[in-house]
Amino acid sequence: MTNFAKHVWPISAEVIENRLKLDGLNITELAREHGTPLYIFDEATIRHACQQYKSAFADYPGGVEFSYASKAFLNLAIAKLLLEEGFDFDVVSLGEMQMALHAGARPEQLHLHGNAKPRFELEEAVKAGIGRIAVDNLDEANTLADICRELDKSTSIILRIEPAVASNTHKAIQTGQKGSKFGLSLKLVDSFVEIVNRSPHLELLGLHFHLGSQLFDLSDYQEALGVVLDLMVDLWDEHQIEITEISPGGGLAAAYTATDQVPKPVELADAIVDFIVTGCNQRRLSIPTLILEPGRSLISRSAIAIYEVIGSKPIEDPAVGTAEKYLHVDGGMGDNLRPALYNAPYTAIVTDQVEHDATEMVHISGRFCESGDVLLKNAMLPQTQIGNFIAFASAGAYTLSIANNYNLVPRPAVLMVTNGNVRLMQRRETFEDMIRRDT
Ligand code: PLP
Repeated sequence: MTNFAKHVWPISAEVIENRLKLDGLNITELAREHGTPLYIFDEATIRHACQQYKSAFADYPGGVEFSYASKAFLNLAIAKLLLEEGFDFDVVSLGEMQMALHAGARPEQLHLHGNAKPRFELEEAVKAGIGRIAVDNLDEANTLADICRELDKSTSIILRIEPAVASNTHKAIQTGQKGSKFGLSLKLVDSFVEIVNRSPHLELLGLHFHLGSQLFDLSDYQEALGVVLDLMVDLWDEHQIEITEISPGGGLAAAYTATDQVPKPVELADAIVDFIVTGCNQRRLSIPTLILEPGRSLISRSAIAIYEVIGSKPIEDPAVGTAEKYLHVDGGMGDNLRPALYNAPYTAIVTDQVEHDATEMVHISGRFCESGDVLLKNAMLPQTQIGNFIAFASAGAYTLSIANNYNLVPRPAVLMVTNGNVRLMQRRETFEDMIRRDT
């Protein structure tokens, strides 16, 4: 039985003589050469995803800007690639800001997000002349107005609202529901406008929401966009503020398992472009610029994670129909917290036995000292031995960006394959890296 669901693997992935290859390169050999855990990105998959977004929205009449949600994963090589593709950056910290700038982004290309931006980060953003600050709450609006006054510098802002739409996704990654920690409740919009009107330095250009991540149901976007369009009318009627930009954030799902059928960017465009245009016409609004902030859907599929099998442990008295052994691997919640955080599902294969019969049901258990460190439960695999390599698909988003040094295990090396060539884009962390801050 083959376990190879093509749509969850990078587009250059193929199985030749039972072996997993990326762009023609043998993954088992790359794992031996570079060590594990190892993350390998496929450049073609990222570029393909960028193109899909660009072509899907090319006809939007108000103009579209794409702002990559850096939190999904940002390093120098990825940032440069996305700049080449014409993407801007949604950043949430000074670190993400600096990384994007270091890669060559202009400050105007950055949008600063977050529900708790420290004052010094707001100051740095204003000083740098950042493109937009997404104001999240009234305190932040006041702080920002103070900072701008002190620096005598203006800044363009968009308002992140809480649209009170509970998107259809795991609760841990919902962000637009009533009571969310993110975004301003609509009840407080008038108070926000007072702050903006009092400040000669804050220029309100847009409205923003982000409903959460791993979204399959596109009607959630429509519901929240309806809220935004109504608010545009209110802001004009009551305050003569014209909103010229709207952003529905990111959120489009990535495929992790064989059964995941994810909406494509073109389906998102089908769901929202006409909806916005018609909604604006009905309300006599000018068509605003659309700012899209994809993260997961741009990067998740592009990477695989490789682990080495270290050993196993039989499970005594397993529940009926569940795994009979733990298969211990050399990574886990240090490089990928998602399964431990919210039981995120994955697809895993043995890199040189891809099409062998899957005869064993195992829990692929991480090396870290938490019982919750199980990367994949009840995975069907062929018989494995110590030294085999296991590849996880769709490992590009919210893995390395949330990676940590639990148990003082160094974070993995990261490779990029392009046109049959491989390059190291981030070396494996070392003990020296980890002790550098200690005094
Ligand atoms: N925009 C904002 C403001 C976000 O907070 C996030 C993710 O948390 C995104 C965009 C990207 O979401 P996704 O990776 O699901 O596309």
